[in-house]
Amino acid sequence: MCPSCRSQKPLMKNGTYVRKSDRKSLIRYKCPACKITMSETFFSIDYRFRKRSINQLTFRALCSGVSQRRCGFLVDIKPIGIARRVVRFGNCAAFNLDAYRNTRPKATVVQIDEMESFEHTKCKPLTMPIAVEQGTRKILSLRVGSIAAKGKLAEISRAKYGRRLCQRKACLQEVLKEISSCFLANGIIKSDESNHYPKPIARAFPDATHQRFKGKRGCVTGQGEMKRGGYDPIFTLNHSYAMFRDNLKTLSRRTWCTCKRPDRLQSLMYMYAWFHNLWLERKKRPVHLDWSIITN
Ligand SMILES: [Zn+2]
Repeated sequence: MCPSCRSQKPLMKNGTYVRKSDRKSLIRYKCPACKITMSETFFSIDYRFRKRSINQLTFRALCSGVSQRRCGFLVDIKPIGIARRVVRFGNCAAFNLDAYRNTRPKATVVQIDEMESFEHTKCKPLTMPIAVEQGTRKILSLRVGSIAAKGKLAEISRAKYGRRLCQRKACLQEVLKEISSCFLANGIIKSDESNHYPKPIARAFPDATHQRFKGKRGCVTGQGEMKRGGYDPIFTLNHSYAMFRDNLKTLSRRTWCTCKRPDRLQSLMYMYAWFHNLWLERKKRPVHLDWSIITN
């Protein structure tokens, strides 16, 4: 498909050229409809990134608890270079996750819950609903949205930053809509006893069984996500949350690397979700972010 005019006609080959930096021969393509030309790198994840060799290392480092600034320091590029890669990699991971949902066998048991974090200050909390397949621990869908501050901070938050948009319901509905492509209509959905879940779940999956479990107190190891004592019915989910907290620097507790923009946090979370799924599947292969899944 042509990226400029969206014409469905197949692109024509239009010669080759040699890339200066690594002497690699690349093909140019031409759109038969609008005559625009582009090289094959246009469809690759490193299009117009000068230091292509650091991309996979950056992806792995950002998904392994390294902050963006420190990652820039380690691979010797400016923080803006890392920030640009976060956007590109996040989009790529979101596309890959979508393709994965549409091609994988349907899940029978899915666990859904929300994790909370904040942008800039605790007065601006964020909600992050995530859907995980029970057993395999594969992450199926996620979102990041703003919510209003609770408790003592609610008044301070309103006075300082005004009324805050609550996207809790919309985010949850989007997650439920997304997993409909990879979830059996009469399967089981597990969650905690929050009052926000029964209605949207019943509306999205009228034939599914919704099981609710009482939340337990957190233990220190998982920093609140892993639960204290005995059997945890939504262990798969809590374990995945603990891994998000451990492997994304912005989500770790008591950090000074706080999130500044929710959309960037969502990109990072997509990156981690895809990294997590690849990691579970890797079978001794290195974890590699692949753009080709999208273009094929
Ligand atoms: Zn075109």
